[in-house]
Amino acid sequence: MKPSILIDGVWQDTKDHKDVLNPVDGSVVGRVAYGGAAEAEAAADAAAAALSAWSDLPARSRSSLLHRAADLIAGRAEEIGTLLAREAGKRKPEAVGEVSFSAEYFRWFAEEIRRPSGSVLPNEASDRRHMTLRRPAGVVASLTPWNFPCSIQARKLAPALAAGCTVVARVSEQAPLAVTELIRCLTDAGLPAGTVNLVHGPAAAATDAYLNHPAVRVVTFTGSTEVGRGIMEKASRRVVRPLLELGGNAPFIVFDDADLDAAVTGAMLAKFRNTGQSCIGANRFFVHASVFDEFTARFAAAVDAMTVGDGLDKNVPDLAACIDDRRVQSVNKMVDEAIGAGARKITRDFDLPSGAFCAPALLTGVPDHVDLASEEVFGPAAAIFSFEDEAEVLAQANATELGLAGYVYTRDQSRIWRVAEQLDVGITGINHALPSVPFAPMGGTKQSGLGREGGSHGLEEFEESRYLSIGI
Ligand code: NAD
Repeated sequence: MKPSILIDGVWQDTKDHKDVLNPVDGSVVGRVAYGGAAEAEAAADAAAAALSAWSDLPARSRSSLLHRAADLIAGRAEEIGTLLAREAGKRKPEAVGEVSFSAEYFRWFAEEIRRPSGSVLPNEASDRRHMTLRRPAGVVASLTPWNFPCSIQARKLAPALAAGCTVVARVSEQAPLAVTELIRCLTDAGLPAGTVNLVHGPAAAATDAYLNHPAVRVVTFTGSTEVGRGIMEKASRRVVRPLLELGGNAPFIVFDDADLDAAVTGAMLAKFRNTGQSCIGANRFFVHASVFDEFTARFAAAVDAMTVGDGLDKNVPDLAACIDDRRVQSVNKMVDEAIGAGARKITRDFDLPSGAFCAPALLTGVPDHVDLASEEVFGPAAAIFSFEDEAEVLAQANATELGLAGYVYTRDQSRIWRVAEQLDVGITGINHALPSVPFAPMGGTKQSGLGREGGSHGLEEFEESRYLSIGI
């Protein structure tokens, strides 16, 4: 077992360890060292000590180190992706794709940091000049979940490091192995000691140690709204800036003029990518009454044709395992509750292999009061509702405290603008279902979070604007 905790440039071990299990067969995929508050404090001390040297390094030098890291990650995509598929149960092509996509974040921010920044402002008096500088915010605590463990951590690490911040990371204990290898690529690329630090261990111990450290100025967290709220409360004690990417409850709206082929293709991707365990995954389908029967029949036929199995099989299945049995039970409970309340499952029964597998399921006639109609499912099941007009569907789509993503299928250009402006979400996929790119700002409205990740907005989250008023 390679040492898996990184403090001050040294990969190290601890006396406690945690096994990481494959959700398909329960086998041990690997182990991570399991640290606690002491390791997290040492990591934060190291990040604090490394801050000024890293932030003083010319942007060009930071950029070339991040490019080198991107090359190493991309070069190991197959190997790290396979490890990711094993620990998280993912379809291997999706896992390898996630690692390659992670490299793209490092590349994009390596380039972005070389662009001019700051501004010169118009002067109010002839003997004054005004300008702004952008400076790194400080040490960043980066806390990430298991569903896209590599790309979500990359979306935080790349801009934070590009901005000149140093980082203390904690990753989900359910899928820590691949992302540890991703971080190993950063040290292999030659990032200075202390620039990136990683501690595995109980969530609250590391989070508290990071948030209590005087050098930590930003906490970036991706995960559930409930845990995010707790982190925001803790961050408020030292007025640490929170950057939160939280739960989603994405509406997927199909209007009467939609290209139904594209809508069904998009629905399959938006619902079943990563076995439905995606924060931007389609959660509630709203289909215009005039195309409801046709869309629903085609969508159900596509689901009925799906194969379910081990994501590492040579014949790659359409749907792989969930992260664990708890996730499967949670989805099945929602489906059973809806059926008990009168909903109709319109997709076939599946013979599932043993392991953390969950059958894909589409339901119609789902009453509003059940969880499947209103809560984030985070798995391969969904309710389909019918609507009559635009105002009605917008009201239904927005009737949630979450506002991360939404999807709209229509060929009417005027409606695209109206709906895009009225849908209360941070990310809208219009006539396609894969909106994630490194250069776009990703993030939510309402209780889906605060701030934006990706693109130049994502860089600014890790910077402070410094205003200079100069007498001449
Ligand atoms: P979670 O909130 O339970 O866990 C997320 C991370 O927080 C994990 O690493 C976990 O170990 C850690 N954690 C748990 N309790 C903690 C505590 N008290 N203090 C500090 N850290 C703690 O979420 P999850 O079950 O891993 O992921 C599912 C949720 O995450 C869903 O709601 C999903 O929508 C959301 N999510 C959002 C995004 C996004 O970009 N907005 C992306 C992925 C997942």
